[in-house]
Amino acid sequence: MSDDIQKHLRNAFEHAKAYRGQGRVADYIPALAKVDPSKFGMSLALPNGKFYCVGDATEPFSIQSVSKVFTLSLALERSGDDLWKSVGREPSGSSFNSIVQLETEGGIPRNPLINAGAIATTDRLMDGQSADDTAAEILAFMQERADDPSVFIDQEVASSEAATGSRNRSLAHFMEAFSNMRHPIETSLSVYFRQCAIAMSTRQLARAGLYLAFGGTDPISGKDIVSTEHCRHINAIMMGCGHYDNSGEFAYRVGLPGKSGVGGGILTIAPGRGAIAVWSPGLNDAGTSLVGSKALEHFVHALNWSIFT
Ligand code: GLN
Repeated sequence: MSDDIQKHLRNAFEHAKAYRGQGRVADYIPALAKVDPSKFGMSLALPNGKFYCVGDATEPFSIQSVSKVFTLSLALERSGDDLWKSVGREPSGSSFNSIVQLETEGGIPRNPLINAGAIATTDRLMDGQSADDTAAEILAFMQERADDPSVFIDQEVASSEAATGSRNRSLAHFMEAFSNMRHPIETSLSVYFRQCAIAMSTRQLARAGLYLAFGGTDPISGKDIVSTEHCRHINAIMMGCGHYDNSGEFAYRVGLPGKSGVGGGILTIAPGRGAIAVWSPGLNDAGTSLVGSKALEHFVHALNWSIFT
């Protein structure tokens, strides 16, 4: 079986490689525009501690919005259902940085995986602690989940996003106007920009996501990370909202809960089986890795791991 997995991974990689050059690297964050578009890596982490990797699987990249799954995990454990007063859990059907729904929906973002919802979630995580302590908590959480202290915040990416973050500032101010921000906008955003600038490899990211495939318990360390109920909820939200206005398409093609980021990373959870992470910087129109989605579709099919099969 393990030979089969490596073979399927290699096949998916080769299949998806043909699509390289069709996506567009995110350039609205200048530091991301510099990334080599031909990069492509993929990793599968299994509960027995085994990894399957191909391509640029151990090279760190900017995880961007994939971080939102992890801050959601922390915020849900901290605030419980109270979090749902600040943010919903419906797909938005809009782009990741859209502001339109905030106006008609009273400043409550549709879900925690679009920018507005993630900013509100990070703002909740700051309740009772400073911005620096919150950023340190998030980084430590990622290092522990990845079982690797080398996971770091790329300060150049964080500064680059802070310098060009008018859109996210607008979302935050708009929510503040509806009393849905508890902390000064710039302090909450400084944490949000830092969490998005966390750099990890697909191998580290797949390892980090394992607890979400095993009811909230890290299958390797045996540690309870989130409750079983929260784990179920986070996976449901990923399935409905993990890829913005591309979420339906991802569910249709891949059939697993996942989360994409504009750095070109995607984390995918195969409940009861493992976690898969892929990275290829060229994005489709919705901001999801084009090659990464193709590779996942192929690999998950070959393994017959869609939750709908
Ligand atoms: N840091 C990015 C932003 O706020 C995250 C967006 C994403 O990865 N979709 O625009």
